[in-house]
Amino acid sequence: MKIAVIENEDIRVKRVEDITLQGREGAIVKVLGCGLCGSDIVKFREKISPNGTVLGHEIIAQIVEVNSKTDFKIGDKIVTSHHIPCGECLYCKNGNVSMCEHFKKTNIHPGGFSELVYLSEEHLLNVAQLLPSNLDEVEGSFYEPLGCCVRAVRRANLPEKSKVLVIGLGSIGILMAQALKAMGMEVLGCDLIDERVDLLKSLGVDAINSSDLNKTQNYIKSITDGYGVDAVFMTSGSDKAIDVALKLVRNGGTILVFASTPLNLGYANNEIYYRELTVLGSYSPAPEDLKTSLELLKSGKVKVKGLSTIYDLDRVNEAFKDTVANKILKAYIKVK
Ligand SMILES: [Zn+2]
Ligand SMILES: [Zn+2]
Repeated sequence: MKIAVIENEDIRVKRVEDITLQGREGAIVKVLGCGLCGSDIVKFREKISPNGTVLGHEIIAQIVEVNSKTDFKIGDKIVTSHHIPCGECLYCKNGNVSMCEHFKKTNIHPGGFSELVYLSEEHLLNVAQLLPSNLDEVEGSFYEPLGCCVRAVRRANLPEKSKVLVIGLGSIGILMAQALKAMGMEVLGCDLIDERVDLLKSLGVDAINSSDLNKTQNYIKSITDGYGVDAVFMTSGSDKAIDVALKLVRNGGTILVFASTPLNLGYANNEIYYRELTVLGSYSPAPEDLKTSLELLKSGKVKVKGLSTIYDLDRVNEAFKDTVANKILKAYIKVK
C-alpha cells in the first residue's frame, strides 16, 4: 500500500506492505480520502512529528476487513475521528476529555494519508459512523473538524442569541461561524481577505473585512449598542489578532481560543482581571460533539460543499505547500 510520510522538509509517498487485521478486533479500511487539518500543518512545519510519521486523520473510508461486535460490515462507507476518551479518569469526569491520557494515546494506524488504515474496536464503538447517503466523500471529511467546532461552542456555554465574532475565516473559521449560527448564536465573521469574507456571506453568515481596526470597532459598537460582542472565537493563528479580540469583546465577555499562535503571546492579565473576561480554550472533539457534527452536515445546517481543493495522494506535498501559502482554503487528499 502507498503511504505519505514526513521526510525532512517534504512529505513523500512510498510503498509498504499492506496491513491486515491478523486476528485483532476492529477493522481495516480502504481510505477514500482524507482532509488536511491545520494541526497536520503545525506538526509538519514545527517538526513536532518525526520523520516517517503518516499524518492525516479526517478520513472517509470503506471497510475491507472487519472483526467487531458492532454492526459495521465489509463495504460500509464510514467517517471516523482518531482519539477516544477513556470516560473514567479525572479529565474525562470533569469534561476535559481531550486531556485524557487514553485520548492522546489512541489513534488510527498508520495515519490518514495511507491507502489502508487500521481502526480499533474502540474506534468502531465510539467514533465511527456510517457516511449519510446525502453527503459525498469530501463533505464527509468535515466530520472531525466540525466536531472540534461543536465542542468549542459547547465549552463557551453562551446563552442563545449571544453576539459572537469569529476572527479568522480559514476553513475552521468558516465551519465555526456556521456551527455557532446553527447552535443559536448571532454571528459575525471577520478576516483580512475579501474572498473569505464573501465566502462566509455566501453561506448565509454575516461577515466583514477587518483590515481597518477603527472601522471594525465602530461597526461592532454600532451593532451592539456600544458594548462590543459577547464573545470572540479566535480561529486566527496570528498573534496580532489577540489585540483585536481584546478590543472587540465587551467587558464581562468571553474569548474562546481555538488556534496556536507562532509567538505564543497571551491575553493581558490586567485586561482579564479589570474587565472580568473569560478566556478559555477548546481542543479536539468528544464523541457526542462528533454525533452533532454529523447531524449538522446531514441536515445542511453547516455547508461544506466546494470548500476543499482536491489533490491525489501523490500530490500531498503540493497540498501542504499550497495550504501553508494560503493558496487554498482546505485540501482534501483523494486516496482511492
Ligand atoms: Zn483535524
Ligand atoms: Zn479519560
